[in-house]
Amino acid sequence: MIQFPKNFIWGAATAAYQVEGQNANSDWWHWEKKAGKENSGDACRHYELYEKDFDLAQGLHHNAHRLSIEWSRIEPQEGKFSEKELKHYLDVILALRARGMEPIVTLHHFTNPAWFSESGNWTDKKSIERFRRYCEVVVRALAPHVHYWITINEPMIYMTHAYVLGWWPPQIKSIWTGRTVQKNLASAHVAAYCVIHKIYEEAALAKPAVSISQHLQAFEPCDQSLKNRLAAFLRHQWFNLGFINAVMRHKALDFLGVNYYSRQQVDLKHWGIRNLAEDVCQKNHDPRPKNSLGWDIYPEGLYDLLLKLKKYNLPIMITENGICDAEDNLRWEFLQGHLKSIHRAMEEGVNVTGYLYWSLLDNFEWAQGFAPRFGLIDFDYATQKRTIRESAKKFAEVCKTGTLN
Ligand code: BGC
Repeated sequence: MIQFPKNFIWGAATAAYQVEGQNANSDWWHWEKKAGKENSGDACRHYELYEKDFDLAQGLHHNAHRLSIEWSRIEPQEGKFSEKELKHYLDVILALRARGMEPIVTLHHFTNPAWFSESGNWTDKKSIERFRRYCEVVVRALAPHVHYWITINEPMIYMTHAYVLGWWPPQIKSIWTGRTVQKNLASAHVAAYCVIHKIYEEAALAKPAVSISQHLQAFEPCDQSLKNRLAAFLRHQWFNLGFINAVMRHKALDFLGVNYYSRQQVDLKHWGIRNLAEDVCQKNHDPRPKNSLGWDIYPEGLYDLLLKLKKYNLPIMITENGICDAEDNLRWEFLQGHLKSIHRAMEEGVNVTGYLYWSLLDNFEWAQGFAPRFGLIDFDYATQKRTIRESAKKFAEVCKTGTLN
């Protein structure tokens, strides 16, 4: 039997664009149509049905929930902030509080207002002040009810997918642009961190806890060659730790939000910057069970990574960890494996304070559309019916008791 601490945070995560529906002022909304992608449309209609979803989460004994604020709703035109939408998110947060659930609030989860994208996006230095100003408005409205803030979700995934690999809007394929965006995102985080703390101080509220959600991959050399060992090490330093190091220089993290899904086996084809960032092994040696998108299920990677984060001496919250598995065959095993890894790391002195499964319900999986099923709750897109999966019930026991048998 494994026992987690009494005050451990248990819950699930969502992101506004993936569940709310009808985010018509967002850059993704425009891009889906332009690129001929599946449309997010009504998604899970969570914008209207959030209370229903929170009732389900409460019934599953979650004591916390991670959500995000859709910037394009709050600021549909540059400098024009919507009181109505601020009130909406206040109601959402109060609905969590009313159910005894701690809100963990993300300010940027991959999407931007369309106007922001059309006027320079994250490549423009002005993005830093634009983001800071938006954060200030939101935090002023919600501060008394929120303790945990995530400024930017997975800055390295966002930067690489949108500006280096060109898979996501604005579909730029340049390492140099990516570098600029990474710098701007780091400065934007630091600016947001400072303004959040200032607001709490001025209002004499207890200090908030502010972080990013950093996506970590377990990078492993696919063989023991010096070339691949060095490449895996460098990729870890750059992709996993680079952003954390940049913002730590400004002491701008109160805890560390970690998102973990899988591993990458590194097999460098040539020495080149792109190769160092991207090359993966295509041979299927050391095969593992996979999720429905083909990602290896690799819980031991999370243990190794958590130990590598010990040096930062920060509390760590797992802000995402999950599996797409429509049949729900592997989810419970996935959950158990990852919870065991976390517990093992905790026994070795890593201070993990909470675990948020991705995701509460099936939702819009970005460029992959609605096919991947990450939810604890199955979602029927035709009828909006929500059905709790078996794995969710088993996880609920862990949330209730803090123990894993
Ligand atoms: C993102 C989520 C996404 C999930 C599964 C994370 O990278 O934060 O928005 O749905 O992974 O791909």
